[in-house]
Amino acid sequence: MTYQTKHVPPKIADFDVIVIGTGSGGGVGAHMLNKDGKKVAVVEQETMGGECPNYGCIPTKALLQAAETLDTINSAENFGIKVSGKAEVDYPALKAWKDKAVWNTGTHAGEQSYKEDGVAVLRGHAHFIDPWTLSVKGKRYTAKRFLIASGTSDFVPPIPGLKETGYIGYREALEFEKPPKKLFIIGGGAIGCEFTEIFSTFGVDVHIAEATERLAGKEDPEIGDLIQALFERKGVHVHVDSKVVKVEKKGAQKIVHVDSNGKVTKITVDEVMLAAGKIANTDLGLENAGVEFSRRGIKVNKEMQTTAEHIYAAGDVTGGYMFTHVANYESRIAAQNMFSTLKHHADYSAVPRCIFISPEVASVGLTEAELKEKGIEYQVGATSTGWLGRANTSQKDTGFVKILANKKGIILGASIVAPRAGEMIHELTLAIQWKMKASKIKYTIHAFPTWNQAIRSAAAKIDCK
Ligand SMILES: Cc1cc2nc3c(=O)[nH]c(=O)nc-3n(C[C@H](O)[C@H](O)[C@H](O)COP(=O)(O)OP(=O)(O)OC[C@H]3O[C@@H](n4cnc5c(N)ncnc54)[C@H](O)[C@@H]3O)c2cc1C
Repeated sequence: MTYQTKHVPPKIADFDVIVIGTGSGGGVGAHMLNKDGKKVAVVEQETMGGECPNYGCIPTKALLQAAETLDTINSAENFGIKVSGKAEVDYPALKAWKDKAVWNTGTHAGEQSYKEDGVAVLRGHAHFIDPWTLSVKGKRYTAKRFLIASGTSDFVPPIPGLKETGYIGYREALEFEKPPKKLFIIGGGAIGCEFTEIFSTFGVDVHIAEATERLAGKEDPEIGDLIQALFERKGVHVHVDSKVVKVEKKGAQKIVHVDSNGKVTKITVDEVMLAAGKIANTDLGLENAGVEFSRRGIKVNKEMQTTAEHIYAAGDVTGGYMFTHVANYESRIAAQNMFSTLKHHADYSAVPRCIFISPEVASVGLTEAELKEKGIEYQVGATSTGWLGRANTSQKDTGFVKILANKKGIILGASIVAPRAGEMIHELTLAIQWKMKASKIKYTIHAFPTWNQAIRSAAAKIDCK
């Protein structure tokens, strides 16, 4: 599809910019443009603030913190602390804590705070009538520019019996007043792994199935192998290389048929949870606006501009990395480029990716598979974290740091499994972003005893020319 020239821009528009979606991809851009003096409107059809603060990052991390606290209490005796009685999970109180963390993000006041800043808030489903006009609840609004940040919805795999039997998604899984005794999670990516961590720590008998060879299958193999070993140590049933081929009802329970290398096993559980991926929300009349899209998402160039030159897109709807920090970054780039001749380009060479299980998993830059695919010769510098002073004093000896560098020693990728990997990864993110050699890290003093000392040790194993 090409840009529709038969429509001309309105001489006088209702707004300079209309932003569709108030999530991580919409909100930042809307505030920036407003501060820049533009007349801005946001359109939101559901909860202000979108997925991350309401149903994604924040509630899951609040529950993961509770899980880690339970683990800490249960291991207190290792540190000479006597706990009288058994630590127990109080589910209504746990849900109240999760709700409090969501409340603290301030999204409940989202509409009001936009209005106080002078941004118009339009409630309802936005739909393009032509490249310059949106319809929201039957009313028409024109603008000179648009930013689409409509996010994604859950992908529901076409598994026979799944819809009829019923299942839950991550939103329902966050609302349990009492979790099921046995839970089957379909999908072994970051979301599936984080919910496995949460529920297995709280005593639920969890099965997790992943169709590819490993959990977190897009990362280097050591990561998936270690996550599987850690989960199995907690009693989780991990099914990799396994497809759910059928789901059926048995009274109040559900029978999940899992095909692992041609052998089908039937597993009876109380609930089935989907974590099998996301699909872009493109039901916006994009064909009326000349905006090209595919199943993956809205097509954008490096300036975050769609195939219609006055329409930009940011966040999960573009089908790239699905993280809040990436959606924020793209939103800033779109807002900067919309009215400016000085264009900023999106650069994805150093995007940190985290899975907040225990210990945390984090990676950045290229994986080994991507380096091979690009034909880049590389070297590996790796170390376990078990020998660190910090591992000794915290009784946490599982983990590693792995750095990938080219023949000159310039760092191109890295992965970490360690208790604070989500924080540690930024040292390597900085190195990759600024094309640093591993020797720069080797010759930097790292404090003792810290987890980051393992990064220095891995970097010291890279040959720099
Ligand atoms: C369980 C879970 C945990 C996660 N944890 C993390 C994490 O720890 N770290 C991290 O970086 N990322 C995490 N993510 C991913 C993160 O939540 C997303 O990448 C981020 O929220 C995407 O922002 P977005 O603005 O693109 O989309 P969204 O936040 O989904 O916002 C899109 C908004 O657009 C609205 N909308 C859609 N269509 C229309 C329309 N036609 N008209 C009007 N409004 C419309 C929707 O209602 C929605 O509010 C997690 C996701 C999940 C599900």
